[in-house]
Amino acid sequence: SATKENMQFQTEVNQLLHLMIHSLYSNKEIFLRELISNGSDACDKLRFEAIGNDSLYENDGDLRVEVEFDSTAGTITVRDNGIGMSRDEVVNNIGTIAKSGTKEFLSKLTGDQQKDSHLIGQFGVGFYSSFIVADKVTLTTRRAGTAASEAVRWESDAQSGYSLEQVEKATRGTEIVLHLKEDEKLLADGWRLRNIIRQYSDHIPLPVMMHKQEEGKQAEEWETVNKANALWTRSKSDVKDEEYQEFYKHVSHDWEDALAWSHNRVEGKYEYTSLLYLPSKAPFDLFDRDTNHGLKLYVQRVFIMEDKENKLLPRYLRFVRGVLDSADLPLNVSREILQGNKIIESMKSGSVKKILGLLENMSANEPEKYQSFWKEFGKVLKEGPGEDFGNREEIAKLLRFSSTLDDNAEQKVSLPDYIARMKEGQDKIFYITADTHTAAKNSPHLEVFRKKGIEVLLLSDRVDEWLVQHLMEFDGKSLQSVAKGDLDLSKLETEEDKKEQEKVEAEAKNMVEHIKKALTDKVEDVKVSHRLTSSPSCIILGEHDMALYMQNLLKQAGH
Ligand code: ADP
Ligand code: MG
Repeated sequence: SATKENMQFQTEVNQLLHLMIHSLYSNKEIFLRELISNGSDACDKLRFEAIGNDSLYENDGDLRVEVEFDSTAGTITVRDNGIGMSRDEVVNNIGTIAKSGTKEFLSKLTGDQQKDSHLIGQFGVGFYSSFIVADKVTLTTRRAGTAASEAVRWESDAQSGYSLEQVEKATRGTEIVLHLKEDEKLLADGWRLRNIIRQYSDHIPLPVMMHKQEEGKQAEEWETVNKANALWTRSKSDVKDEEYQEFYKHVSHDWEDALAWSHNRVEGKYEYTSLLYLPSKAPFDLFDRDTNHGLKLYVQRVFIMEDKENKLLPRYLRFVRGVLDSADLPLNVSREILQGNKIIESMKSGSVKKILGLLENMSANEPEKYQSFWKEFGKVLKEGPGEDFGNREEIAKLLRFSSTLDDNAEQKVSLPDYIARMKEGQDKIFYITADTHTAAKNSPHLEVFRKKGIEVLLLSDRVDEWLVQHLMEFDGKSLQSVAKGDLDLSKLETEEDKKEQEKVEAEAKNMVEHIKKALTDKVEDVKVSHRLTSSPSCIILGEHDMALYMQNLLKQAGH
């Protein structure tokens, strides 16, 4: 029964659509890049599913994206013969936003078009960008392997929800018809569309085809409009920066430029190519475990899978985007085989080295750029020493901290910088952890250090407690919390300091005994402290006690 149903968009979709239409106007041509990118992803997915089930090709293995236009009707059609969608998939992918954190994301929007358009960039625009230029969109799709009568038609004007209808579609895949807004009808033009495709989709490794243009008319015959080669197979010297950037936007689903990249052909025990990108902006869901895109794995230029489970890179590098193309893996490789596979392990460790090398170079030669990287991804990189023991020295060099040097909240101090400034006789790297930067820099534990001019790192990111548990030392110097255990600053003290301290201890002896009695059940010991210069007292944790901060966290979590 072919009944048409009217459905409502999820509230978030309505908000997003409204924004899309009003904020992205100056960048409207990207709608085509997004649709072509989706078509290409759909073909990749088909290829992956067809590995175990050849019949999904339905005798048409010639994967491609087609773009057609009708200037009289004012329509543009984008068609692919990829995986297609079932009815449920249409409802879930186009009509809902499954990404968790969407609500918070939308609540950050300001109404300022300039600012919002950058935020939307971090969110990813995708399919909905169609509505920048169209006032009605019709999507017809059939999932590979289902009957011709099982196809679905989705239609919306972005104002009043959408309709769904079961229809016939002979071929698998997805066809999207954009009914252009009155003042966008000039986009339905062969020359303009070719330009947009070449500008934004040249290096989609899949042919994007249009009808040949003959005497101002569209001929029956098709031609490939983009280069359609795998960019990463070309030699570095032949690829322009703009080409790298354009390919980045496809693989990353990002729409801002990449910050940097590393392109390598590796010929050792195993042969592979890697093209690894660092984004300029963190995606809004960087800390969401499930929704990240990962590297794309190819075998001899054939797409295998997108690594959403961090098999190709460790978690602390989950912001890296790009491609690994192996010459050695079998084409019918499955997810299961990838687990613990030697070739995968070798590509993984090689890629980690490349990324850490890229970052090290940047920090040495382009410190400002590195600082902007750190602001976006520093918190993630701090997971590194705990996750990747073998590379912890390299990672540690890349870390940046706030310190008592200037008390600035911006994290700029590296461990080598700190060590270079250490006092004569100082053999430890001192730090304090707290749950805010303000709490850290105002801690009474710092008084004696400030007095003596000894720098202390101020740690207040959530991940810092985890970091210092795993990074016990750097360059032979141990990391020491100023809030834990006995502080032995004796090497840094003059004879005069020591005499003064002994005098104070003798004078305070009676008072200490008195306080000890009063607090018998509450504390282990009471000592005269030389940590403080103006606060009367503070609590010190035993060397192996968890920092107060962790204790608080556990308490909050109900332990
Ligand atoms: P993204 O590509 O970043 O996931 P989009 O908004 O572009 O976001 O697309 C949302 C989802 O809709 C995709 O993840 C995919 O599941 C589905 N989709 C969109 N276009 C197609 C298509 N041409 N073929 C199959 N599925 C599609
Ligand atoms: Mg997309």
